[in-house]
Amino acid sequence: MLRGFQTALRMIYPARCVSCGDRVDSDFGLCGPCWRETPFIGGLVCDLCGTPLPGTTNEGASVHCDDCMTIPRPWAQGRSALIYRGNGRKLVLGLKHGDRTDICHPAAVWMARVAKPMLTGTEVLVPVPMHKWRYLKRRYNQAALLAQEVGARLGA
Ligand SMILES: [Zn+2]
Ligand SMILES: [Zn+2]
Repeated sequence: MLRGFQTALRMIYPARCVSCGDRVDSDFGLCGPCWRETPFIGGLVCDLCGTPLPGTTNEGASVHCDDCMTIPRPWAQGRSALIYRGNGRKLVLGLKHGDRTDICHPAAVWMARVAKPMLTGTEVLVPVPMHKWRYLKRRYNQAALLAQEVGARLGA
């Protein structure tokens, strides 16, 4: 039923790249060129903030970037899905200030992918609250939308 509905919906609204708007094969994704231009983070990363570091993997190692060695962090572990530049910055700004709530879906997929190895299955996801005036201006809390989508993916 849902699949039939999605197919019917796609005939009316073909799937579009969330970055450039070109047609794509799957819903809520990036086209090939935008995927290549989006700075996804992989390999060795800082265990506290997720900044990429020179190296290939974190397997068994907890390494920290210069910033996290200098500035104490009030959390135990952190990851990032994208570097905040180029297409990564464009997507974040679209979600934060451009009413592009459709970006939540792919962003949650990318966030869940990098978060999953850290989780034990007992976590609670808590979005950063938004001041009521900002909420009234924006009409949604993008952190809450992301938390719902990530939580649905991770069963948290
Ligand atoms: Zn695109
Ligand atoms: Zn760091």
